[in-house]
Amino acid sequence: MQRDSTLGASEIGERIAAVRRRICDAASRTGRDPQSIVLVAVSKTVEPERVLCAYAEGVTDFGENRVQEGVEKISMARAKHCSARWHLIGHLQSNKARRAVEAFDVIQAVDSVALAERLNRLAGEAGRRIPILLEINFGEEESKSGFEVEELLLNLSPLAALAHLDCRGLMVIPPYRQNIEQGRPYFRRTREILSEVNRRANFSAPLTELSMGMSHDYQAAIEEGATIVRVGTAIFGPRPNVN
Ligand SMILES: *Cc1c(COP(=O)(O)O)cnc(C)c1O
Repeated sequence: MQRDSTLGASEIGERIAAVRRRICDAASRTGRDPQSIVLVAVSKTVEPERVLCAYAEGVTDFGENRVQEGVEKISMARAKHCSARWHLIGHLQSNKARRAVEAFDVIQAVDSVALAERLNRLAGEAGRRIPILLEINFGEEESKSGFEVEELLLNLSPLAALAHLDCRGLMVIPPYRQNIEQGRPYFRRTREILSEVNRRANFSAPLTELSMGMSHDYQAAIEEGATIVRVGTAIFGPRPNVN
């Protein structure tokens, strides 16, 4: 019996196995190698002990959407010899950029040239080259952060010139749709934008990553080309209603 609504280790293990099976199924439906898809377990609001359970099940990547919460969890996890990679997946305010650069391995939601320039400077000071993704905003509904597509395409040269950023690809949080099929065009469009970016820009290497898909739609996202999926609820169960 569990004392509260949080999931125990064995249940987390079963959920991870189920997510992995679905990742494999979705990949094989489109002839892709399941090993090429990174599962980021989104651990916002999840206590460190449960993160360690997921790590013990072989999860190598975790996602946090808030710098403060992430920094604390990362240092607790590292103190327990957890050498996972940590992705910042939420909007980053510029006054928290330094702490984010110090703690996170990947910054996924870079949403302006000004933020990218700041991260570039901080990474240079830290002697690092930090992997980032550029967030796309389709300009609908709740999604307020991210580059609008035209804006991104117009700013590729200054972004590609930032030597301390290792820009790997795009991330997107499409407008929420009950019907997963209605979300699919956003994933497809994001993949097209990635090709367009590679046609136009001279980043040091072609951009290859597409971070798209959450608990309700990661299978569709994989079918449309996702290389990184960000899955929270399907692994750790429902979150308290704070986000
Ligand atoms: C919370 C969050 C997720 C995970 O959402 P689930 O529906 O719990 O899988 C993915 N991406 C971002 C940016 C998030 O903030």
